[in-house]
Amino acid sequence: MELELNTVQQIIEIVGEDNVLTNLEERICYSYDGTFQRGIPELVVFPANTQEVAEIVKLANKEKFPVFPRGAGTGLSGGSIPMSSGVALVLTRMNKIKEINSEDMLAVLEPGVITGHFNQEVEKLGLYYPPDPASLKTCTMGGNIAENAGGPRAFKYGVTKDYVLGLEVVTPQGEIMHTGGRTVKNVTGYDLTRLLTGSEGTLGIITEITVRLLPKPKEIRTALVIFDKLEDAASSVTAIIRNGVIPATLELMDQIAIKCVENFNHLGLPLDAEAVLLIEVDGGKNQVEEDIISIEEICQNHHCRKIHIASLAEEREKLWKARRAVSSAIVQLKPTKISEDATVPRSKIPEMVKRLREIASKYNLHIPVFGHAGDGNLHPNILADKNNKEEMERVQKAVDEIFHAALELRGTLSGEHGIGIMKKPYLQWELGEVGIEYLRAIKRAVDPNNILNPGKVF
Ligand SMILES: Cc1cc2nc3c(=O)[nH]c(=O)nc-3n(C[C@H](O)[C@H](O)[C@H](O)COP(=O)(O)OP(=O)(O)OC[C@H]3O[C@@H](n4cnc5c(N)ncnc54)[C@H](O)[C@@H]3O)c2cc1C
Repeated sequence: MELELNTVQQIIEIVGEDNVLTNLEERICYSYDGTFQRGIPELVVFPANTQEVAEIVKLANKEKFPVFPRGAGTGLSGGSIPMSSGVALVLTRMNKIKEINSEDMLAVLEPGVITGHFNQEVEKLGLYYPPDPASLKTCTMGGNIAENAGGPRAFKYGVTKDYVLGLEVVTPQGEIMHTGGRTVKNVTGYDLTRLLTGSEGTLGIITEITVRLLPKPKEIRTALVIFDKLEDAASSVTAIIRNGVIPATLELMDQIAIKCVENFNHLGLPLDAEAVLLIEVDGGKNQVEEDIISIEEICQNHHCRKIHIASLAEEREKLWKARRAVSSAIVQLKPTKISEDATVPRSKIPEMVKRLREIASKYNLHIPVFGHAGDGNLHPNILADKNNKEEMERVQKAVDEIFHAALELRGTLSGEHGIGIMKKPYLQWELGEVGIEYLRAIKRAVDPNNILNPGKVF
């Protein structure tokens, strides 16, 4: 332990002895996220409120120790992993939904609220919070804001940043700041709410969130479309978009993903298909029916084998269970999963799918492709064994080529998982030195002691 005993004592005085973990076995539980990276914190601390967070951050500035904010630890870019000695600050005790307001169509909540729980609570009141990362049963709203999370519904409804109206934040120097507010329009000063959304725990600790809500869609239909050729599935995606149909979700699973999910929880997926699309439409009754008919026609024109329409809630949930299981199921093939989320413009989806296949074959790697095809956010996941040095060298080359391909097609390194530590080496490819220096200047200005989540993003 590099933290002074006196410092540990002061932290215990702030949050109480029961809310600090000191022994190694317990600290190891907070050393990882959804990547294969590890870093054991010296201390794990669970504050109960904003005041306690602010006091810890003030102490961190005085004693010069780093603070690593953490939600549920499901991140896929290494964002919450302690890169050096310091404190993991876990926000899961701050888990109250403070207000759901049907008149102003907004909700106010603490960062430790589980996203899926929040979705359910607003839906009980006939309202809707669209962001739905596939990890929604576990991840926190604070983590979603910090990563600017997306999800299947981002295709129609946008990502987390499109819903954040205001934030309460503990600044890197331990002050409490409020950004935005409760109005749909707000142009007072720089847009700090947007700056902090997606800032990956490096510019402030989010302690309260105000999000806008929508009315819950009246009707939903989900279609499972089966394809013999992956390329036909990919070109159906662009054709659906070109024809002006805007489904709520447009998800793709390739054959490796299908086989792994089926082996994992036996849902009856077609093992011989090269790809399936999971397409959900929502809205008024007539619109939903019209959209489903158009989608059927388009997929048939692109040689789909079969279309299965699910309208009952249980049937739909079964299909979504399959989709949400992919990320966990594919590790049956190899123990180490490198999840990328390079994203391309929608028109380039078929080209990107082709390039991913070529890269997998060139480096002799399993690279299942699944995810949010509708918004160009394919999730190529490279499966390997991190103990196999030769294989990991091939993985590295494949990752380089995936990012090259995405940027060449005028896409981006990350659609929703953030940069963290995993994509840090590639940031310059997209932003250039000037862009990175701009980010650094912001960080230096608000966090001169480099207290919050050091070693992340750049
Ligand atoms: C199976 C699986 C499926 C996934 N599917 C999706 C998906 O569909 N879409 C998607 O976008 N992501 C997805 N993810 C990634 C992940 O779930 C999201 O990035 C999520 O937003 C992380 O939330 P968390 O609470 O686990 O945050 P953590 O992993 O704990 O932290 C993530 C980052 O947020 C920071 N942070 C956490 N809380 C705060 C706070 N209160 N204030 C400031 N910074 C904070 C951390 O420092 C870190 O940088 C998936 C992950 C898994 C494992």
